[in-house]
Amino acid sequence: MTRPVRALIDLVALQHNFKRVSDFSPHSKIMAVIKADGYGHGILRIARALDEADGFAVASIEEGLLLRNAGINKPVFLLTGFHHGDELNELHKYNLTPVIHSHEQLSRLARWKKTTDAKKELNIWCKLDTGMHRVGFDPDEITIIQNQINDIENVNLAGIMSHLANADHPNDDNGQESKTDEQILLFTQSVKSLSLEKSLANSAGIVAWQKSHFDWVRPGIMLYGSSPVLDKKATDLGLLPVMTLESEIISIKKMKKHDAIGYGGDWTCPEDMSVAVVAIGYGDGYPRSATTGTPVAINGKRTQVLGRVSMDMITVDLRGFEHARIGDRVELWGQNIPVDEIAAFCNTISYELMCQVTSRVPRISNRDAG
Ligand SMILES: *Cc1c(COP(=O)(O)O)cnc(C)c1O
Repeated sequence: MTRPVRALIDLVALQHNFKRVSDFSPHSKIMAVIKADGYGHGILRIARALDEADGFAVASIEEGLLLRNAGINKPVFLLTGFHHGDELNELHKYNLTPVIHSHEQLSRLARWKKTTDAKKELNIWCKLDTGMHRVGFDPDEITIIQNQINDIENVNLAGIMSHLANADHPNDDNGQESKTDEQILLFTQSVKSLSLEKSLANSAGIVAWQKSHFDWVRPGIMLYGSSPVLDKKATDLGLLPVMTLESEIISIKKMKKHDAIGYGGDWTCPEDMSVAVVAIGYGDGYPRSATTGTPVAINGKRTQVLGRVSMDMITVDLRGFEHARIGDRVELWGQNIPVDEIAAFCNTISYELMCQVTSRVPRISNRDAG
């Protein structure tokens, strides 16, 4: 029998969340961010369901080619550009738009020997570093860079973007400019005289920083139904969970007071009680940091993890679940338990939890079924 672990992918919820993006930013085009295999949901399934998106953002040429080979013709942006000069002909051929961030990439572009014969130009965007201090050109250099690109044959600078570092923090209203206000201001000033397409907002910018919206917004996490800001829950923002990670009870045991559960015996039963073993573990991407107390739901009702997470199994508390049976459905996160709640328990973020679900977990969407 196959293991009962699966990640249900609700594409109706995805489309609902997309609609929320356009409610928040009605005047901007939407570049749906589907890197890292659509945040673990399956890149093609997500791209196909988001047929209203104006474009897609990915992290690598491989992801871009996957979209093109699946017949997706919308603009596709490579958020960190290209890594080797020999990718350029392929980017050009497949109409993929690299977002370049370094002088190294600029000089590779200048040395590019176009072998593809089409007359069309390679569209590129530039990334500015307005305060994230990860990648991007210095905003002071933008005019010089623009001139350098204009000198390169067959290459057209179409847009400019930057990325917010702290947009998940609400404005603290203490009269001081927040880091996000500073980034928005610097970006606005740096790009105001340029007739290029402009983009700054990630999900947090979309919901909390209206001035960051510009021509294109770049939602990632909110599409998948998780809250991008610290002071609001997904439900407060009208977002619905897209992924439900679930499995089943594979064993039920009656334990005695003082019996220790699992590796290391970290948790001992405070009384005679039943526990259930559930087929999910860190081999599936369920985090090993989900120790005693982490919520799970059996048939929709909450209980908790007991002891350590193993590779293929966890143990959960059956007190109050007299009717639990082998084969009962257990949710790790999704419909009943927000992934953000598990992330808080595990001292991480929902992004990591969703990206970490391993390839042995089948993703099943409501469209695959129909
Ligand atoms: C990943 C990413 C996004 C999406 O961020 P979310 O917080 O998931 O909305 C937007 N822009 C860039 C440059 C990114 O790398």
